[in-house]
Amino acid sequence: MRFLVFFILIGVYKCAPEGHLWNYESEGPDFWKEEFLNCKGQKQSPIDITKEYLEYDSNLKPINFGNYDKVSNWNISHNGHTVVVSNIKNDQFTIDGSDFDENFNLLQFHFHWGYNKYHGSEHLIDGEKFPLEMHLVHKSKNGTFTVLGFLFTISEENNPGLDSLLEGVSVARDKGHWQNKTFSLAAMLPESNTLNYYRYLGSLTTPPCTEGVIWNVFSTYINISSEQLTSFRHNVLRLNFRDPQKIYNRQIFTSFPVEGSDKLRSRGGPNQPCVMQNGSQKSKHIILQNGILPILFYIFYLFKLF
Ligand SMILES: [Zn+2]
Repeated sequence: MRFLVFFILIGVYKCAPEGHLWNYESEGPDFWKEEFLNCKGQKQSPIDITKEYLEYDSNLKPINFGNYDKVSNWNISHNGHTVVVSNIKNDQFTIDGSDFDENFNLLQFHFHWGYNKYHGSEHLIDGEKFPLEMHLVHKSKNGTFTVLGFLFTISEENNPGLDSLLEGVSVARDKGHWQNKTFSLAAMLPESNTLNYYRYLGSLTTPPCTEGVIWNVFSTYINISSEQLTSFRHNVLRLNFRDPQKIYNRQIFTSFPVEGSDKLRSRGGPNQPCVMQNGSQKSKHIILQNGILPILFYIFYLFKLF
């Protein structure tokens, strides 16, 4: 009888539902779609931010950073998917402004990287990849997520604002490794400009790929030297980025006017023709397709009547 109970318990244990496994290798992004239905949605992140889909939105005012300049204590650890940084104290780091109708609190921030300096970012700008991307994940009291995405670019000089953080990143190379560090968030961010950003509706870039996330990707990059970037090379993960997802019927808005994006078309999917105002080769082609040909057909039709 005891043995019977033992085997029944083993059976129950084996049949118990487990959390779905995911990673960036054999259970990588292509596999996620099988286990996490959201991951095949039509508002997924990241995306390639191409000029073709940009539209200036004057409602996108500057984002206000609350407490970002406060020097505070941070825990830098590894959760098996990324290096994640969370506040040790109960300091509140908030954002508002923009076109937000609520305040958002910072939950944590983390990184996406690759195994060389030619890739690593999740978002692309006009097809260009970046070596590193940082996501500052915020949530409102109503449960809405908004993420600030910062792309990094290689600089000759070290960026001293990253030093403390990167010391912690070097230590947090695997699950179970962590370090506490003291720094201000503002020290990491680009000094010159946080006014210009791209805005679109997307998702978490990792399972369960939940949609409804308000994305803000900044167009000013953070400098990092090749030497500083090696902090991520010691990591157990060689890469941890998801490739750009289809845009489908989405628009990307900008908080700043963008040259070449002031097109007539303001809505539509990726395969719809794009009519530009600047008289480019593409717009002439569209005029030929949509303008002259129907007129010629109409003339031929009239001649047939005669
Ligand atoms: Zn992320």
